[in-house]
Amino acid sequence: MSVDELAHNPQQAIIAAWLACDDQEKVKALYAKALAQKNALLGDAVHLRGLIELSNICAKDCFYCGIRCSNTKVVRYDLSDEEVLEAADFAQKAGYGSLVIQSGERSAPTFTKRISRLVTEIKSISNNQLGITLSCGEHPLEVYQEWFAAGAHRYLLRIESSNPNLYASLHPSGTRHSYKSRLQALGAVKKAGFQTGTGVMIGLPGQTVFDLADDLLFFKELDVDMVGMGPYLEHVDTPFFTLKETLWPKDKRLAMSLKMIAILRLIMPDINIAATTALQALDPYGREKGVLAGANIIMPNMTMAKVRQNYRIYDLKPGLEEDAELSKSHLEENLAAMGIRIARNEWGDSLHFGKC
Ligand code: SAM
Ligand code: SF4
Repeated sequence: MSVDELAHNPQQAIIAAWLACDDQEKVKALYAKALAQKNALLGDAVHLRGLIELSNICAKDCFYCGIRCSNTKVVRYDLSDEEVLEAADFAQKAGYGSLVIQSGERSAPTFTKRISRLVTEIKSISNNQLGITLSCGEHPLEVYQEWFAAGAHRYLLRIESSNPNLYASLHPSGTRHSYKSRLQALGAVKKAGFQTGTGVMIGLPGQTVFDLADDLLFFKELDVDMVGMGPYLEHVDTPFFTLKETLWPKDKRLAMSLKMIAILRLIMPDINIAATTALQALDPYGREKGVLAGANIIMPNMTMAKVRQNYRIYDLKPGLEEDAELSKSHLEENLAAMGIRIARNEWGDSLHFGKC
């Protein structure tokens, strides 16, 4: 089993064998190769996107997510326009270069038009200095086109699992949560002109290394520009909490997530790969370890401290007591401790975008 084989001949069986590999020397060699690949092609610095969790109001009921609409214990919120613009100002002053607006999924025009307005205003007040990524769920092509025209240029919509049967097991049945609609929405994101990002959760109930290998091949087949993936983590007030005894242990979910990043870097060398917050939930240096395994993006949270508790998608979510300033300084300390440089005031677009 050689690392070079992964890059030159990515096949389900070979990827699955690497994911199952517990030989620490081999795994270290895998990370080293992925890191070298990233450094050679994208540089050694990590790009930051300040994260604004705009609203936890969601029409969907995903079995794994703490802010699903059936969870009546959640205090629902919408950030005000002023709060969003204040966060954008923070991102610009911090030199983040880009921000991400994420929220629960809502289809009402009052919501979709508000996103367009906020994107336009952020572009205006930042003098087009801030790049904008959106992650607000599934919408029709026209909505994505409107958001793109307003000035957002990247969109994240995770497929969650590329196995349609596993996808079905993660969601209530019916058209609102269908695999087919998710796939169609991803197609619409691409068609609208966005740099397109997707991703999966790792360590889901019933998921195998073969599913995960197929997820990586799915990203390649779909020719995405960006991937954000991380461990699945339990939330006590979700239907999936009852399956907690069946899950891989947390250290295995962390190790599997790092291997997924490294393998993806080798099979899609020029895409953007995020080291997600869920990695930090399992290890205080989880995001930095993600970067050292080949990721090149981190999304520091800028959401106001007063509502962070209410965007708890999983129980172990880190930084819930912090504000934007504290999350920034913690991340900067961690990155410095691991010898990772930050790229400031750059969009850090996917090098892959626009290539045939
Ligand atoms: N509502 C939008 C959507 O679902 O695309 C964006 C927000 S949603 C909170 C962002 C991502 O959070 C989802 O794509 C999912 O992968 C992740 N997520 C939700 N619950 C999770 C959990 N329990 N563990 C890990 N990730 C989770
Ligand atoms: Fe809503 Fe996204 Fe959570 Fe699903 S994962 S319940 S769509 S916020």
